[in-house]
Amino acid sequence: MMNSPIPKLGTVLWRGLRRRCPRCGQGAIYRSFLRMHDHCAVCGLKFMHDQGDLWVYIIIVDRALFILPLIAMLYFRLYNPYTVWFALFIGLLVGGMFYTVPHRNSICLGLDHWAHRKWGRNDSDRTPAAPPES
Ligand SMILES: [Zn+2]
Repeated sequence: MMNSPIPKLGTVLWRGLRRRCPRCGQGAIYRSFLRMHDHCAVCGLKFMHDQGDLWVYIIIVDRALFILPLIAMLYFRLYNPYTVWFALFIGLLVGGMFYTVPHRNSICLGLDHWAHRKWGRNDSDRTPAAPPES
């Protein structure tokens, strides 16, 4: 797996949306709703190599999904806090933000993996020396 080909960006994003390992696409990233596995059960990729690696991707993905629609709503003067539609929109936004936390984090994990494979360090420093036993 050390010399596995670099996956395409679309493949990595799709795997992230499905909360699957960015390298093999089979191992689950999350063991429960908000608890991650340390590494992939299939290929052994360590998911959180460095806790600080994901913040740029999280900022970009969060802004794209949630802040930009709010800006568009204000720009096109759709903002009216006294309508039912506005309350529904805010409810959907808050609910969507909570529900999509694992999906967004998995996408960010995939983007980090993809960027490091394409421009950064080798895949081998993210793989444990021995394959996982469990
Ligand atoms: Zn994997």
